[in-house]
Amino acid sequence: MSFIRKCACVVVVIFSFTSCYKETGESSTDNPVVVGPTVRGDNLGMGNPSGAETSLLTPNNYLMVKPQYTLSYNSSRGGPNWVSWHLNSTWIGKVGRVGEFAADNSLPSGWYVVSEYAFSGSGFDRGHMCPSADRTASVSDNYATFLMTNMIPQAPNNNQKVWAYFENYCRGLAEKGMELYIIAGGSGTGGSGSSGYKESVNGGHVVVPKYTWKVVLVLPNGDDDISRVTAQARTIAIWIPNEQNVSELWTNYIVSVDDVEQRTGLDFFSKVPVNIQSIIEAKVDAGS
Ligand code: MN
Ligand code: MN
Repeated sequence: MSFIRKCACVVVVIFSFTSCYKETGESSTDNPVVVGPTVRGDNLGMGNPSGAETSLLTPNNYLMVKPQYTLSYNSSRGGPNWVSWHLNSTWIGKVGRVGEFAADNSLPSGWYVVSEYAFSGSGFDRGHMCPSADRTASVSDNYATFLMTNMIPQAPNNNQKVWAYFENYCRGLAEKGMELYIIAGGSGTGGSGSSGYKESVNGGHVVVPKYTWKVVLVLPNGDDDISRVTAQARTIAIWIPNEQNVSELWTNYIVSVDDVEQRTGLDFFSKVPVNIQSIIEAKVDAGS
């Protein structure tokens, strides 16, 4: 056991050293044509959807800020209310899916900590909110996405198909020169995984959401992002049942940001002037 762990450790160290070396080597040699953004941006740059604070007095709306994403943790539900992250091409690199699922031990002492095995045998996947593939520029970035505070119990056909395809679509926009502000979460209680309907897993410590949702604000790469959000800005919102019998097409689940705000009680993009919010949040994206 300990030998295997040591080996795994050594492999990770070598891998991260190798990828660092490769990146340095590439940027110092050729490829001058590729001019991408150099700034990663603020994961909570368009506003805090629930006014979350890092306070022991608000255990069901507890702000957790990590370099890779920001979230509001709900200790009664055993998972995030929402996870918010910025995506542009600077976040996407070469390390791939190297992380391992892990308990988030940065929760306040005395709070129940959901383990990496908490969903085992439940019929639900450990569904990333901030996806592994959105954080591949370094080993530590990728590991961060595997913390259980970034997971909800997600029906496999939701997680592995329609949800994953929309993740891919968003990443494609980033690879084409856009930057995205993304917020995702689960809402309601009770979903149907591969072992049928459940309202909770892990002995009641983790609530199974009834729906998974995501809202996205898309901008061309640039600086001073809030000032560039005009009435023409693209928003995409999806609202998907947390069930096995979902369609594979994310375009079947497009709603408006206003719809998600009404159903969750959250306020997205609150740093954007209200008159512009009201226009961009009422849009229903064409899905192409
Ligand atoms: Mn997933
Ligand atoms: Mn709003």
